[in-house]
Amino acid sequence: MTTYLISDLHLCPSRPGATALLLSFLAGPAARAGALYILGDLFEYWAGDDHLGDPFNARVCTAIKAVATHGIPVFFLAGNRDFLVGEDFARACGTSLLTEPLIRDIAGKPTLLLHGDTLCTDDIDYQNFRTMVRAPQWRSDFLSRPLAERISVIEGLRERSTVEKQRKSMALMDTNNDAVAAAFSEHGVTRMIHGHTHRLAHHEHSVDGQICQRWVLGDWSDTAGNCLACDADQWKFRYWDGTALT
Ligand code: MN
Repeated sequence: MTTYLISDLHLCPSRPGATALLLSFLAGPAARAGALYILGDLFEYWAGDDHLGDPFNARVCTAIKAVATHGIPVFFLAGNRDFLVGEDFARACGTSLLTEPLIRDIAGKPTLLLHGDTLCTDDIDYQNFRTMVRAPQWRSDFLSRPLAERISVIEGLRERSTVEKQRKSMALMDTNNDAVAAAFSEHGVTRMIHGHTHRLAHHEHSVDGQICQRWVLGDWSDTAGNCLACDADQWKFRYWDGTALT
């Protein structure tokens, strides 16, 4: 049974193509999977679990839950866009919320799973922002504000982030090799899977005298999705066009 890992779909109502691709993926390959892992940024943003009242969000969650109802374990690890998910979200999706960094057995191999943003240590401004918003006090203060106000704050941050990304170099926004090596070393594993950078690739790193494998998931466009398909004998990136996995 294949384990599928996906990330960075950035779903929102203005991206019906990507949303349709996910829905068909969930009804197709995912419904026959051994397990499904969503490694963050499923949504363009998540303003808090009362955001489930939005029919778009509810529809996506219901489709994920249908997979779980088939008896397929579904796991969710939050990204930088949807870190405000909570237990109500998890229940709506029939998933377990995972907290990174964590090591899971993926097709028989102990593997470090991350969203990936913690590896982008060159971007100091982003890391400072991350530390601020991930603090429990910030989270509870923010979630106590009305939903409409939270959405408006997040929309503002998204606009600012789009402008800042044009200013930042590609290298600044990529993973830092020392941070990658440190993550392998600290967790004592030779396999890692993450997303976030949207740079689908399989990398090999030499760490502590061992060859370590790092799989970076790609983002989804309106016409193409991707996943890492893990079987005991092989791990492989595969592509989803809505009808066939190639
Ligand atoms: Mn991300």
